[in-house]
Amino acid sequence: MGMASASTTYGWGGNILIIDLSREKVIKKQLDLTIARMYLGGRGLNSYTLFKLVKPKIDPLSPDNVLCLANGVLAGTGLPMTSRLHVSALSPLSGILGDGNAGGEFSATLKHAGYDQIVITGRASKPKYVWIEDDHVEIRDASDIWGMTTSEMTDWLRDVHGDDVSVAGIGPAGEHLVRFASTIVDKYHSAARGTGAVWGSKNLKAIAVRGTKGVEVADPERFYELAKEDEEYFKNSEFIKKVYSTIGTHYGLLNWYPGWKYFEKYLGPEELPKGVRPEDLAKYEVGRTQCFSCPVACKDVYKLPSTGEFGTSSEFESIYALGCNNCITDTEAILRMEHLADEYGMDVITLGDTLAMARFLYEKGIITEEDTGGIPLKWGDAEGQIELIRMIAYREGFGNKLAEGYRNFAKLIGEEALKYCYDVKGLSRGWYHVDFMNGVFTLAHATSTRGADHLRGRSWAYWENDRNMDPELPLKLLENGLPDYRKDPVGALIVSERACVLADSLGRCKGSINSWPQAVPLVWKYPLFKGAAMLVTAATGVKFTEEDLINVADRVYLTEMAFNVKQGIKKKHYAVPFPPEIINTPKVQEELRRHWQMVDEYLRRRGCDVETAYPRRETLEKLGIGFVADEIEGKDFPEWDGPPLWPLDKYPSGR
Ligand code: SF4
Repeated sequence: MGMASASTTYGWGGNILIIDLSREKVIKKQLDLTIARMYLGGRGLNSYTLFKLVKPKIDPLSPDNVLCLANGVLAGTGLPMTSRLHVSALSPLSGILGDGNAGGEFSATLKHAGYDQIVITGRASKPKYVWIEDDHVEIRDASDIWGMTTSEMTDWLRDVHGDDVSVAGIGPAGEHLVRFASTIVDKYHSAARGTGAVWGSKNLKAIAVRGTKGVEVADPERFYELAKEDEEYFKNSEFIKKVYSTIGTHYGLLNWYPGWKYFEKYLGPEELPKGVRPEDLAKYEVGRTQCFSCPVACKDVYKLPSTGEFGTSSEFESIYALGCNNCITDTEAILRMEHLADEYGMDVITLGDTLAMARFLYEKGIITEEDTGGIPLKWGDAEGQIELIRMIAYREGFGNKLAEGYRNFAKLIGEEALKYCYDVKGLSRGWYHVDFMNGVFTLAHATSTRGADHLRGRSWAYWENDRNMDPELPLKLLENGLPDYRKDPVGALIVSERACVLADSLGRCKGSINSWPQAVPLVWKYPLFKGAAMLVTAATGVKFTEEDLINVADRVYLTEMAFNVKQGIKKKHYAVPFPPEIINTPKVQEELRRHWQMVDEYLRRRGCDVETAYPRRETLEKLGIGFVADEIEGKDFPEWDGPPLWPLDKYPSGR
């Protein structure tokens, strides 16, 4: 990696804010450029910080947890889609690394105020919010907004500080420590994995920011020439125009086989019931919207005729999890649920999958009305589900149990429920046959450093979607060095995991429909990460090669793996779930044998110990992060079994 002069902070904001809520103290620190070169920003910077500051086996809802918000090195530069904010903590939902990535304006505004990261520690004695206006940072009383929904809170903060401020914060779900509460940015953009409950546990309601300084890049001529080239793809692509900008992620309903009736089956395009087809959703659309510097505008704006409310981003995940997986096909009801999830500040995937699991367990007699407080859990009951969503946000009645989240809810019920819990490391994504997509799909769930997930690597491994509309791009990617998942699924996944780390650390959107050109700038024109390296070099003045970026991506991934090792993740936790009725069949046993073979190969190629799944010292030292080895080598951490759960009456409950 080349070195620029030590004082250069082009591209980066140059500062980090450390906010100690227990002492009500704000410390402004200069960004450590050595660390910034190694971890870039965004997810990379957050994962490094958490590895350094979070001790093994702390309670994620205690003041010991650390909440990090970071934009990426290219955030706010004006390069298309440099809008993403990464929010990270030890997850109260899974008990391992928990991070989410949100769009909106906050990430760019924070950069324009001069900051790359906010690190929040401790716990305030009373509800607080943080007000940032460039160099001015203040911790303020939040008693007027505690209890508000996310849109009420945002409107209140904009009334006080001005319409141009960007707001990140929580709704009632975060305040009530719902374990899958999200951080909500500018009313509609969500960072999940339980980060919202961490805000709540710290008595922190929101951060409002105004940034007026802009961002300076080292070589503006070169940078904006490359940014213009990058924009060309989005302007000229028929795929973008016909799909991303017109249908958004509803397109996925016809392509991604949404789960039906708690994953009893996965719906093909012809099986999609009326009510959840893209054309049904389009009837409610009154416009489209976008995040900072985005030429795509993948997000719909919809109006609910019954209440007159407006919502946005009714994405594939909300429709499948809240709708199909619960057999609900009433379009307006699903949109209301999605809107409520944003208002209360909850993750739609965990919300929908936990509700679907509860209905399934009820149908099987594993739970009864004694457990639900007399509520019958019927498939397709839209009005009942809307009420349950409210009860979860306020931890009322049966909602208090569901608020524990997918795997934790199953644990509360007991062994019979856990048999039907389709999670990897605490997160739900359903169950899949290993032979689907040549094993790469399930492998990606298993290796994700935040639990089963669709945005950690998997989609990019098989160039999802773009091949339908842009047949030349997959060929170009293969030509440029992306392993073909049909021949080398493990290699394809590793390259894809790198693409995701880089997007999350650049501050670039990974794309609502999972496509390479969104995640990795200029990938359609230059070898895989070369375009991104040229952009980072022009932005920062630090010479980055393609290989340097690959090293950054591997450094981040292995630091995250080591973070999880400290929280008790072992090799056995790379397992993938199957329904108990088929797990012992010869077909599934053979699939599992293949899965574990792929896990071994993955660990070997990642430079980890194949027996323990610990990253090896030699690998870490090669990447210049021997300090990671110092903390895990030769140590046996207590085995992970999810986060410590509280007695249910200890949580805040009710309005
Ligand atoms: S593609 Fe969608 S999610 Fe990504 S930046 Fe644009 S509007 Fe936001």
